[in-house]
Amino acid sequence: AELMETTPVEVIKEFMRGGYMFSINEVVGHDLVVGIAPSFGFEVLPLEAESGAGSIVPSTDDVDPALLEDRPPVVTILGHVDHGKTTLLDTIRKTNVVDGEAGGITQHIGAYQRSRRCARGGAQVTDIAVLVIAADDGIMPQTEEAINHVKAAEVPIVVAINKVDRPEADPERVKRQLAERNLLVEDWGGDVIALPVSALTGDGVNDLLDNLAIVAEVSELKANVGRQARGVVVEARIDRSRGTVATVLVQAGKLHVGDNIVVGNLRGRIRAMQADSGEPVETATPSQPVEILGIRGVPEAGDILEVAKDERSARQLAEARIRQSEIKRAAGPTMEDVHTRIAAGEVKALNLIIKTDVQGTVEAVKGALNGLNTEQSRVNIVHIASGAITESDVLLGMASKAIIVGFNTEPGQGAMALANQEGVEIRHYNIIYNLLEDVELALTGLLEPVY
Ligand code: GDP
Repeated sequence: AELMETTPVEVIKEFMRGGYMFSINEVVGHDLVVGIAPSFGFEVLPLEAESGAGSIVPSTDDVDPALLEDRPPVVTILGHVDHGKTTLLDTIRKTNVVDGEAGGITQHIGAYQRSRRCARGGAQVTDIAVLVIAADDGIMPQTEEAINHVKAAEVPIVVAINKVDRPEADPERVKRQLAERNLLVEDWGGDVIALPVSALTGDGVNDLLDNLAIVAEVSELKANVGRQARGVVVEARIDRSRGTVATVLVQAGKLHVGDNIVVGNLRGRIRAMQADSGEPVETATPSQPVEILGIRGVPEAGDILEVAKDERSARQLAEARIRQSEIKRAAGPTMEDVHTRIAAGEVKALNLIIKTDVQGTVEAVKGALNGLNTEQSRVNIVHIASGAITESDVLLGMASKAIIVGFNTEPGQGAMALANQEGVEIRHYNIIYNLLEDVELALTGLLEPVY
């Protein structure tokens, strides 16, 4: 606790969250410390690390401002299917702005258009979210979902009102729909930037890029280029001839061909790297997406890549990560856990993601749950929609520390596996009364005892 500048109580609490009970007098094994240190922003280095003795070092980059350098923004394009994400990305690439601030954006916008994962497992990937909404269609279910993801990740949002070349386009309606979701655009007196564009003709795209550059500048994006490289996996697949191909976004340091790396629980050595233009590169710097070859096994999106000193420490780090993930697995919020934490005054609301069988149920469930709110306790509905529980719901659950409720609906296989792996609780109900009863129980922790 001393080394991490926190109190023993906080450390004990963190162990409890992982299912371990310790008193203040107990000696805790190295392995367990490795597991909890990241929650405090530290990582535990193995004994034979460069510093000589085993040590705990801050894993954040903002230690010494002198070491920080500007970096380009990582932009994610989100929106409903067919609203023009791919077309917009193509147009941006073709715009080919080499000069000026927007240049940095067009060079780095590439890899993320398919990624809905603004944040995953605590790894913040996106700096700015571009929400594409077709002006003829307006806000649709996936737009809604995207908005909730962006809000949960607390990422600045720029709205591209697309397809304004179409006669049916109605940008004002889109603005109104945004306002209904608490996103007030600038001409409505709010601070959300919304720009009319036509991804097809290219109209307004330069203006969009200029605005992205401004948002990026305001965000003062920095990275420590001097530290050992760290990145996050955006996606990974197996290529028949090349083995695992992982797209990694560098977040700090410089990644080199030949580096020994740990990716999630896997390890490897970078055999080759490729920029998103397809060109082979020897090094990659922060905000740059690169495809890397040489990981032994297939990592998952969201896995953290780190560079190790040599093969041996890569192996040790990978083993430590495996133990760490075992601790983490038990750490997602459960309804009982929330009850305890509400009772202890640690959290103030119960975050829920709700999926129902039919649209008609949505309003009924929402109304009934909101009826449970009192002055002291609150249900916070992060997202509610009809349909099966998807992988995207689980990701949102992770980002917002929410419990997922399926009302007469089941999770798909991928969603189930992800939830198990990440320790996100999914609860099923067929009867609204049972759901209300459980939520009320969880919330009672919030209620002050009445004498
Ligand atoms: P995505 O599913 O969001 O990636 O959407 P796409 O980029 O594939 O676009 C879906 C369809 O809308 C395609 O037929 C595009 O040509 C069309 N489209 C995209 N942007 C525009 C636009 O600005 N104007 C018009 N008229 N059509 C567009």
